[in-house]
Amino acid sequence: MLQNIKLSISLWDNIVQLFKDYVWFSVSQITFVDVVDILLLSGLIYIVYKFIRDRHAGRAVIGLGLLIVLYVISDIFNMVAINSILKNFYAVGIIALCVLFQPELRDVLEEFGATTSDNIKRFRNRHITDDERILHYVNEICKAAFDLSGKGEGALIVIERQGTLRNQMSEGTPIDAVVSHELLCNIFVNKSPLHDGAVIIRDGRIVCASSKSKTIAENGPMVEGLGTRHRAALKISEVSDAIVVVVSEETGTISVANNKLLKRHYEKESVHKSGDLKDDLFKLLTGRTVAESASGVNVDGNTKKQEQNKDSADTVDRNVDTDNTGNGGERKE
Ligand code: ATP
Ligand code: MG
Repeated sequence: MLQNIKLSISLWDNIVQLFKDYVWFSVSQITFVDVVDILLLSGLIYIVYKFIRDRHAGRAVIGLGLLIVLYVISDIFNMVAINSILKNFYAVGIIALCVLFQPELRDVLEEFGATTSDNIKRFRNRHITDDERILHYVNEICKAAFDLSGKGEGALIVIERQGTLRNQMSEGTPIDAVVSHELLCNIFVNKSPLHDGAVIIRDGRIVCASSKSKTIAENGPMVEGLGTRHRAALKISEVSDAIVVVVSEETGTISVANNKLLKRHYEKESVHKSGDLKDDLFKLLTGRTVAESASGVNVDGNTKKQEQNKDSADTVDRNVDTDNTGNGGERKE
């Protein structure tokens, strides 16, 4: 027994010594400059990762990876000709890549600056939670979609997520406005000068109207019988992570394009029961259903009581002033 205790103590001493010699010694050597260095490197890796993810530059990266593998193989097996060509390629390769990806690199740098200023704005508006802000504009988009569908007007509403659409869509006419169903209806009403093309919504604001997708989905089973508006929506959802709401001028059908798929035939009634279109858009934007969000934390930071969540969608509707009337978003119907 005593032997066992002694053994355990010496084992413990060894562990402590090992910790002091290696872990603590290494940690104590870290300077302030090292911390800044690691943070900057992490930031750089994150920017490269975002760049590859958002621009769908995966193929270019695979191509580059294959060239590197080829270079290593040619080096190992001493293949002089290919090795010297690849060596020269790498000398100018970085510059070539910068030229090739010049618009995207500019976007990344602009986004970097914009994210910083967005964060400052968000900090100023921190009393409004993200879910409530998103639910508010999702509600406005749904109202506009059903209004326009009822009136036989077409619409294309692009909701940006992480990626930018700068390379996929023309600039259109810049607008910087809070999303409201009145404004959306005004834009898409047939005689409006801005009705042709798409509205882009970024971070809860309408940033432009009359924007055109530079490419549209090509022929295939998915787009059979669909015109350019729906094909543009599908293409946008293919080349970016944006969500696109389409209202058909011809049939009044409301559809949502996301990740190369077009979900069609949203019905008006379901908006008023915990909301098909509303729920789908909210879930795509937040990863939660309206009901799940409602059972979370309210504006004042208090957890809502369970009973208040039974009628989930309506509960949220009343908490957010969805129709800007100041009456808590009560429906007028
Ligand atoms: P709908 O069901 O409303 O008729 P659709 O899918 O059949 O739509 P078209 O009839 O070709 O498509 O719709 C034409 C409208 O689509 C144009 O007036 C324009 O507003 C919009 N549109 C066409 N091409 C683009 C594009 N590349 N990007 C954005 N919007 C486009
Ligand atoms: Mg048509």
